[in-house]
Amino acid sequence: MGDGIPGAADPRRSLPAVHRVLAAPALARLADVPPAMRREAAAAALARARRRLTAGEGPAPGPDELAAAAAADLEGRRRPSLRRVVNATGVVLHTNLGRAVLAPQAVAAAAEAASAYTNLEFDLGAGERGSRSAHVEELLCQLTGAEAAYVVNNNAGAVFLFLRAMAQGREVVVSRGELVEIGGSFRVPDVMAESGARLVEVGTTNRTHRADYERALGPETAGLFKAHPSNFRVRGFTAEVSPAELASLAHTHGLWAAMDLGSGLLVPAAGLDEPVVADLVASGLDAVMFSGDKLLGGPQCGVVAGRREVVERVRRHPLARALRVDKMTLAALAATLALYRDGRASEVPTLAMLSLGERELARRALALARALRRDLGGRAEVGVARHTSRAGGGSAPDAPLPTALVTVRPLAFSAHRLARRLRLGEPPVVARVWEDAVVVDPRTLLPGEARIVRERLRSALAEEGEGT
Ligand SMILES: *Cc1c(COP(=O)(O)O)cnc(C)c1O
Repeated sequence: MGDGIPGAADPRRSLPAVHRVLAAPALARLADVPPAMRREAAAAALARARRRLTAGEGPAPGPDELAAAAAADLEGRRRPSLRRVVNATGVVLHTNLGRAVLAPQAVAAAAEAASAYTNLEFDLGAGERGSRSAHVEELLCQLTGAEAAYVVNNNAGAVFLFLRAMAQGREVVVSRGELVEIGGSFRVPDVMAESGARLVEVGTTNRTHRADYERALGPETAGLFKAHPSNFRVRGFTAEVSPAELASLAHTHGLWAAMDLGSGLLVPAAGLDEPVVADLVASGLDAVMFSGDKLLGGPQCGVVAGRREVVERVRRHPLARALRVDKMTLAALAATLALYRDGRASEVPTLAMLSLGERELARRALALARALRRDLGGRAEVGVARHTSRAGGGSAPDAPLPTALVTVRPLAFSAHRLARRLRLGEPPVVARVWEDAVVVDPRTLLPGEARIVRERLRSALAEEGEGT
């Protein structure tokens, strides 16, 4: 084909002019989009069509088709990058998907704090400057049994700040079995190194005894540190020193003992093999640190809870300013903690999802599968299978959370292609692929989302087999 000098029969000549594309309803409707942006999108759609025609693909599209493509483009570009997705993975605390979903009360509190002035650092009684962390400290103390608590940006920050304030330039003794890396490259030894504390490793990967810690003590020792091994378990011939033993050993030598709990489980949860914060505080540890957006089910933040004197040192450290939390986080955390205080922990979405029983999940899976068989015609094979969900967020890796999955096996193309289409639509649906099927775990679907999954599956399976 004579490129550049289109002949009389060149289909590119039948492409409409830009002004006709702009006048087509799909673009004309977008009156709130600046004219220059609309023109640019129309020109881009025309350029793409011209390239396709040059490659010998298909007939020339008309103005309506081009305007629709340009409008879809504009909508995609104006869509925020960070947006809601449907989590069909069954991983309740999915770090890549934003971990905990907040309770409505916490959402409302964060919105109110954001939309008006607040007494964030203002003591209304005294009419003078107050402390921002004070808004949640009393609740945290009440729920954990700690004398004092301080909140920072996340748990990694809490561990860092604690070590910086309590051990900079000195030694901290840790069991080798607890020097783990947590998803997202949080490594206990690295955080410790950055804090300026010197790590002294004791024991072996599978066994650490009281005598191992004892032998490591010296004039440079600041304290003894334990870390929850998170999503890692050592099984079989193992031994570790309990928090209570560690605390008693530390206190015998005039040292502190502290633990990074990872997940901050505030109340015992059925089926979860995770320590409850209050039990660890009661075991005599001087400080515990945990995340706000893991099993606690609140906003992203990190808590240091423990003896008053220790928490005060952390609070007064100059770097505390660099790790401070914002007002929306504090408002959401306070509202989440209030649910626990009021005996309404079951309304915290994270705990509600984790406590869903197998029977209820099977009921939801069967209902969704039945609807999908109607919706999807002969485009996919729909089934229900027993499987397990995961808590995620590095917590309770062993706890089996029995669930019922809906399996959708497309007939015209691969399950991976279907999963990709589900991710790329609006709203994106994130689902796992298992044995050639896209699988939907009803455990992590929020109210109303089963319907969205149905609609998205229907349109993803109706698209042509080619392309994305
Ligand atoms: C998740 C986790 C962290 C990091 O917590 P963030 O809130 O993500 O900063 C640290 N330690 C342990 C043991 C964890 O499980």
